[in-house]
Amino acid sequence: MSTTDSAICIRATDYSETSQVLTLLTRDNGVVRLIAKGSKRPKSKSGGAIDLLAEGRCVFTVGKGESLGVLIEFAETTSRSALRSRLERINTALYMLEVCGAILGEGDPHPEVFGLLHSALERLGRENSSPQAVLAYFQWRLIRHVGLLGELSVCASCGRKVGMQNVYFSSSLGGLLCGDCEQAATEKYHVSSAALSGLAALAAAEAGKKPTLPPKQAAAANALLAYHIQYQLGRRLKTARGVIGS
Ligand SMILES: [Zn+2]
Repeated sequence: MSTTDSAICIRATDYSETSQVLTLLTRDNGVVRLIAKGSKRPKSKSGGAIDLLAEGRCVFTVGKGESLGVLIEFAETTSRSALRSRLERINTALYMLEVCGAILGEGDPHPEVFGLLHSALERLGRENSSPQAVLAYFQWRLIRHVGLLGELSVCASCGRKVGMQNVYFSSSLGGLLCGDCEQAATEKYHVSSAALSGLAALAAAEAGKKPTLPPKQAAAANALLAYHIQYQLGRRLKTARGVIGS
């Protein structure tokens, strides 16, 4: 029984001269790993190798247990060529792909995350967008969606309101720590005033307002959110260095 779905290619490796193993984030079937037999042949149904970031309609069979599923057809609708030629944008996009693949388990549907990645990539492809701002909204919404971020206006330990100085973030507690509580915490990340402003803007955006998110604040918020994601995963993401610088 084959399945038809919308998909974005988040990982692609060569399997043989003519075949690839692809990891696709699909809208309704979550992350799927498929073998694409003959996909690299110029006359294949996909018209050649399927690249990272490619989005389209795919037909596939789901693998059983450890075995890979099989890609039957991939009709590309979006190649994202505008994005591929710009280093900062492509690095940001590759990081977003790696985060999705790392956070979501296989076969666990999250249509919201598919929509989130789709719109973030669309925005990144626009000349006038700020890659750091696009990434900040993406990371914030993704972390929110998977339930990894708590209330950020009060201290995650004592519940009192946090100020603007001497503020820390604890990934294990999923929130901010005030100056009184941070000393007892072994796992913590210092939150700069730029990062706090960035987080406030992201929270305001979530509440339906249209705040401005300057690149510096977005970058500071991105570094913190990437720290949180990597701490939760228990490992570094290869592509993080290209966007976060660490
Ligand atoms: Zn506290």
